[in-house]
Amino acid sequence: MKKKAVFLDRDGTLIVDKVYLNDPAQIEYLPGVFEALRLLRDAGYIFCLATNQSGVARGLVQLENLHKIHGIIAADFHGHGVEFAGFYYAPYPVESNHPMRKPNSGMLDAGAVDHGIDLSQSWMIGDRMSDVEAGTRAGAGTILLSGTESPEAFAWAPPDHVADGLLDAAKWIIARGPR
Ligand SMILES: [Mg+2]
Repeated sequence: MKKKAVFLDRDGTLIVDKVYLNDPAQIEYLPGVFEALRLLRDAGYIFCLATNQSGVARGLVQLENLHKIHGIIAADFHGHGVEFAGFYYAPYPVESNHPMRKPNSGMLDAGAVDHGIDLSQSWMIGDRMSDVEAGTRAGAGTILLSGTESPEAFAWAPPDHVADGLLDAAKWIIARGPR
């Protein structure tokens, strides 16, 4: 049986968006993220991180540091009983329109193949409408975290829900039931 997953944006969703984060010491978790993923884990979801990292292409983020940052995030969630199935990042320039870079759905598609995920039973959560569009393109449900971008500013691909932080999003998914 295929798995259901929650794909998570990183900056502005799991951790404070430090803009081209390159220093592992600067990781700062947003409120409620550990509890949110524990609730979703208990509801049967697995997790993939999907993050655009154009700072790599711009020379502002070193791959070695990016891998360290993701290793620390994995270890910190492990300490809370939550495992990530995969960490996907798109190190391509903003203007590349690379298929792996959100709003394209490549990272979600790759995660689905790598981990046997049924995207129609899955969700994408992020703080930007490019997250929402990537989720929609992949065939997943979408939640926009409020505060960064307004869905009204975009004519296409409205989110299924707008949540006030990841914990609110998790509770909404669980209350809603299967897609
Ligand atoms: Mg973000």
